Amino acid sequence: MAKSSVLGYPRIGADREWKKALEAFWAGKLEEQELHRQLREIRLNHLRKQQAKGIDLIPVNDFTYYDHVLDTAVMFGIVPKRFPYAGGAVPLPTYYGIARGTKDAAASEMTKWFNTNYHYIVPELHDAEPVLTENRPLQAYREAKEKLGIEGKPVILGPLTFLKLSKGYAVGDTDRWLERLLPLYVRVLEELAAEGVRWVQLDEPVLVTKLSAGDLQRLAAAYRTMTAAVPSLNVMLQTYFESIDSYREVIALPVQGIGLDFVHGAEGNLASIRSIGFPDDKVLGAGVIDGRGIWRAELGDKLALLEELRGLVSSERLIVQSSCSLLHVPVSTERETELPAELREALAFADEKLGEIALLSKALREGAAAVAEELKRAEASLLPLKTSAVRNRTDVRQAVAAAMTAVEPKRSKPFAERHAAQQARWKLPLFPTTTIGSFPQSAEVRKARQLWRKGEWNDAQYATFIREQIDAWVKLQEEIGLDVLVHGEFERTDMVEFFGEKLEGFAFTRHGWVQSYGSRCVKPPIIYGDVAFREAMTVEETVYAQSLTDRPVKGMLTGPITILNWSFVRDDLSREQVAYQLAYALRQEVEALEKSGIGMIQVDEPAVREGLPLHASEHEAYLAWAVKAFRMTTCTVEDTTQIHTHMCYCEFHDMIDSIEAMDADVISIETSRSHGEMIRSFEDNTYRLGIGLGVYDIHSPRIPAVREMTDMIDRALRVLDPKLFWINPDCGLKTRGREETVESLRHMVEAAKLARAKY
Ligand code: GLN
Ligand code: ZN
Repeated sequence: MAKSSVLGYPRIGADREWKKALEAFWAGKLEEQELHRQLREIRLNHLRKQQAKGIDLIPVNDFTYYDHVLDTAVMFGIVPKRFPYAGGAVPLPTYYGIARGTKDAAASEMTKWFNTNYHYIVPELHDAEPVLTENRPLQAYREAKEKLGIEGKPVILGPLTFLKLSKGYAVGDTDRWLERLLPLYVRVLEELAAEGVRWVQLDEPVLVTKLSAGDLQRLAAAYRTMTAAVPSLNVMLQTYFESIDSYREVIALPVQGIGLDFVHGAEGNLASIRSIGFPDDKVLGAGVIDGRGIWRAELGDKLALLEELRGLVSSERLIVQSSCSLLHVPVSTERETELPAELREALAFADEKLGEIALLSKALREGAAAVAEELKRAEASLLPLKTSAVRNRTDVRQAVAAAMTAVEPKRSKPFAERHAAQQARWKLPLFPTTTIGSFPQSAEVRKARQLWRKGEWNDAQYATFIREQIDAWVKLQEEIGLDVLVHGEFERTDMVEFFGEKLEGFAFTRHGWVQSYGSRCVKPPIIYGDVAFREAMTVEETVYAQSLTDRPVKGMLTGPITILNWSFVRDDLSREQVAYQLAYALRQEVEALEKSGIGMIQVDEPAVREGLPLHASEHEAYLAWAVKAFRMTTCTVEDTTQIHTHMCYCEFHDMIDSIEAMDADVISIETSRSHGEMIRSFEDNTYRLGIGLGVYDIHSPRIPAVREMTDMIDRALRVLDPKLFWINPDCGLKTRGREETVESLRHMVEAAKLARAKY
């Protein structure tokens, strides 16, 4: 009989109680015992919810004290050498030390979990032999069984994915590392089997990326070794986030179940299963409910899909499940009573998704007629949004379509001509100095915003306060000697939320938090309708700042791709189309700024790379429309208006052509933490537009010496054209203190002067 399952449940709790417990512990306000107690409560509560919804295979060991990749590393005793560790179960202070750093040792690197906004701690392999320090999956299984009578499904990060996500080993070392790790995996599984565990979920999301023939052989050997050791245990080899690349090889693995994503990558997986079939000795984990999106499913369509799959694998061999762990969506829509009704009705967060999964598996077991009422109700909840005015604005659709087709979105002159015209207008010195936009959001700034949000300050009071901040910082920037100034972004909490609140088509939840990394949670806006410009969003502050100085003030906007990638997005329209709507709306802001006399406008795009599809074959198409959206935002300005953009550090080496195609007059890129890699990526490329590679790290309060910055400049100028080079910090300064900011910028201006004398 078809069963239901979930791949993982959010850790943070409906009120972010998980985050609060962690942070209280770190602040020394919670004893370790109390932390354990509180987290156990949260964990059990999550299991109870899944039990109550009737999920058959409930995941255990998906919970964590920080991050599941780090959990896997410490389970195998993999602790970077700079942390004290004497063997055995890794103590909590060491565990958190690796994640967050201590006063003596830097934290391990953190990076994006595939193409999601979740970040994991990168395991650092080194020469010490890995050992099994404790069997965490077994502990989690026992707890669920003893406390709640739940026959849990332990979730374990699989060996190949674990290795691929780690650093500290050379490519040629893969075999040696598998040899070391596999006996430990086998022991974990043997102990689970001895305990009577029926299903275990081994996560191998790396299977959705391109693997070499050698890696596929290693994978097969590894799973042969593991499953041969535990004949009584059912292993679900779980993939997600895309279709798998090597379907034939994967279905030939000696496992009892294979979990596929039928939401993200549905086409590829469906095509494989239709044409190649599915082995009749295996169970299919059908990930039909979107674990990453926030929308209620079209249950009728899902049921049709499941019926088709059942035809291929039979009922006993089908598990209805989420496409990936639910950790990527908020906990529940229940308390979102302030959202427009038609929107709230159309949402399904983690708890609602449990209901959908249970319902679909019931439909498969008892026939669609048994759930006809519920299906009808679910369908009816989607209708009001589908037919709503916000989603169907012909004015927006027509305007965007017209803007897209009128002319190829392109500046009227090539860069060289614009550059000359802009130089004639601004007469900037060699190596102009500037900042990325935000200045310190001091306690005072946050306090003022709170007072205003609570209604204790009226709009005028708040506006006066913002103006005072702008006054002070314009004066400071002049004094420091910066060439291009900014207003400081004091009125913004978050670079996406700020614009989302002012554009049409957005909504904001009250409790819709998701984990970004460790205890850090974000509350992404929801793009639920057609996006449209309402009124100028940044003109007032920018024009005010410009009125205070003769130096140019850069206007500051967040770009369409970043807004898209940091929001939950409607799924009835392609992301490309939503990007164009955003671009068209933002273009109107660009034009409004220009009309008000602002001659330099920065459109930030730190998140372009985050949207890159997992399959390399799709990169080109994505980058093409991302570039087009940026150009659409910026193409209508005069030649003498200078368009800037900014990106934070990530690997750009394979994207430089696309960055160039964005055709921004000046780009600033975070550089200093990349240890020269960023500069190297420009070596074989001839980037021909204005560029500033960040000359100092803004993530630390440390004030860099002038010398460090001149070194950075010298290195960059070995590969970049001095005439096009700008000098700026790595990123915005909103998290920094005032003193360190001023001092660091003084050093930066000094470094620019030295560079001008030298080049
Ligand atoms: N203009 C923004 C700022 O300075 C850019 C932030 C970012 O790139 N993440 O804060
Ligand atoms: Zn940045």
